[in-house]
Amino acid sequence: MPVVRWHDLITGSPTLADANLDRLVHNAHRIQLRGDILRRNGHPRETATRPRTNATPAEIMRNRRPTSPEYASTGAWQRLAEATGQDQCWLVSQGRILHDPFGTSLDDIGDYGPISRGMTAPLLDIRRIYLEPAAAGLPRGRQVLDRFPAAERIPVQSHWRIPELREGDPEDFLRPKREVLVLGVKKGLAFRPNGRSADFIAPSTSNGCAIACAYCYVARRKGHANPISVFANIEEILAATARHAATLGPKAAPNQVDPRDWVYDLGENGDLSVDALVSDNVRDLVALFRSLPNAKGSFATKWVNPDLLGYDPQGRTRIRMSLMPHGLAKLLDIRAAPVAERIAALPDLHRAGYEVQVNFSPVVLREGWEAEWGALFEELDATLPAAVKDRLAAEIIMLTHNAALHEVNLAWHPKAEEVLWRPDIQEEKRSETGAANLRYRTGWKGRWLQRFRDLLAARMPYCRVRYAF
Ligand code: SF4
Repeated sequence: MPVVRWHDLITGSPTLADANLDRLVHNAHRIQLRGDILRRNGHPRETATRPRTNATPAEIMRNRRPTSPEYASTGAWQRLAEATGQDQCWLVSQGRILHDPFGTSLDDIGDYGPISRGMTAPLLDIRRIYLEPAAAGLPRGRQVLDRFPAAERIPVQSHWRIPELREGDPEDFLRPKREVLVLGVKKGLAFRPNGRSADFIAPSTSNGCAIACAYCYVARRKGHANPISVFANIEEILAATARHAATLGPKAAPNQVDPRDWVYDLGENGDLSVDALVSDNVRDLVALFRSLPNAKGSFATKWVNPDLLGYDPQGRTRIRMSLMPHGLAKLLDIRAAPVAERIAALPDLHRAGYEVQVNFSPVVLREGWEAEWGALFEELDATLPAAVKDRLAAEIIMLTHNAALHEVNLAWHPKAEEVLWRPDIQEEKRSETGAANLRYRTGWKGRWLQRFRDLLAARMPYCRVRYAF
């Protein structure tokens, strides 16, 4: 089934088509077969005579190069395929062409680094921007609007009250994740004490995510579509953070979060590596913490954005790469970077000046979980340079699920629920807000967590566990 015709052939459900594309194309090495079937003994193979232009993909992309990151999009990818008369393009991963039916050289696409991401992992194709009027008047708001000049602009009073996003059909929520941005102003600038991932949760510079992890707690609070909302009042957020750190003064005593610095979690409600595709907010945050003598920024991520390598963090920003076994991530981390890519990025991030840690989260128990996690630890051990291992720390978080999210997932990704929804080994726990959450059963959970820690200690004895629950 040609990928470019996927939406036509899976009639009546573009979401299903999107979900399949995301899961299959994103993680696949695609090899296009041509010619006659080989079972017909003795018949010479015929070369497919598909019409195509004479232009190379690089020429086509050069002509189409827009003024926004639109080129890193499913749409651009599909248009490229159509324009060349092919039902697939080339496959590029981390700058290497793995399969190129056109013989395009790396030099030809060298100017188009983000294309390599767009080809294999189309994440954003912004067509609509919901816009708070106050955000449009701020420099950061104007920067975002300038990056997506062709996007339709829809005025809204509040980034929290967009009913078509909040109440949209769960079967169609991957589309807004790719096509919609919300541009707003962060109102509350409170700092919440944390004590796990960080000392404090800083006021966020965004809320929402273009990735679609099946267990995501952000979606539980803000509706299923939950596309990226960028906050344009970055200057206010940066100033509040600097004031907060200045008020704290030096950290009095080391704790599990950090031996010396106050640590602020910057990306509680989204993925900052993805946010960096749409605005300079992340670059500004990294620059702020570079200048604070007593504080570090920190965020967890499931995306690999090479732009971050140029931000010069000077050790003052911690990136916690979220990892789980490859097969599980393919099933659950929809639209995230493949785990192999995340692991491969760790040495680069370290060399670029980030403090690198790992986030084993969520730990999802299924048949054979110890073998698959053990293999992941071995892969990490073989990949990480000694300088990263020397200071490596991990956080471990066992899965908690949620009854309402379970219902949503059944509508768009029931396969994920086969591992997430396990009443046989889970128990209900009411959250502070009264929501029905599920976690692994008391007693069992502690034993499984200990086995996880033992496994980690055996394969990566240098990896300190910052916290586990
Ligand atoms: S990356 Fe984080 S915020 Fe984004 S969908 Fe996954 S869990 Fe949610």
